[in-house]
Amino acid sequence: MFLPKIREVTEALKSLFSPAYTTKFPFKPYVAPEEYHGYPKYYEDGCIGCGTCAQVCPTNAIDIFDDLITGKRKLVLNYASCSQCGQCEEKCITNEGIKLSNEYVLSTPDLKAPEVFETVEKDLAICEVCGKGFACHDHLLFVKERLGAKAYAHPNLLIETQRQFTEVKPSAIKDHIRREDLIKMVCPVCRHKTVVSDEF
Ligand code: SF4
Ligand code: SF4
Repeated sequence: MFLPKIREVTEALKSLFSPAYTTKFPFKPYVAPEEYHGYPKYYEDGCIGCGTCAQVCPTNAIDIFDDLITGKRKLVLNYASCSQCGQCEEKCITNEGIKLSNEYVLSTPDLKAPEVFETVEKDLAICEVCGKGFACHDHLLFVKERLGAKAYAHPNLLIETQRQFTEVKPSAIKDHIRREDLIKMVCPVCRHKTVVSDEF
């Protein structure tokens, strides 16, 4: 006849009357350590809306939406597609726009629920010639600050500086390029066309 060993019986009795070794998650939330790398979070003050995080994301978890009516760019991060790899934080050009948090729980049957998405919204610079959005105003300011005095050689950056002190109203979109467009807030494609048409 098979008889259990004394040690096994003792262990079984001990575990019967001792508290559980496992946590009570999800009934009692578990707080991960500070250094744990969980889901990324945007920081509006540090983000300039450049979109680099969306470009480097290996799972395409970040989408960029430019709304030309409201003049806003929205970056939407879908946690359901995020692998918490940290590429977005590592490649963020300001180093302050997005950071991995120590949050890791995404437990919902509804993948459209608001908690599945993380967003940040920035003001969009719109080309005064073609009417397309081409950069965020904070991005232009970021470039301007890095260039120092050299920035004043570029009309977009000059206008961006003006916007810091006064309201600068954009001109209406026109059906053809004119020489005056050289000194307007213009996207790179239209600036190239404007320079070429002015030269020739
Ligand atoms: S500043 Fe950083 S967080 Fe913001 S869009 Fe650029 S890369 Fe992404
Ligand atoms: S952590 Fe990785 S997968 Fe998640 S949004 Fe950032 S780059 Fe994409």
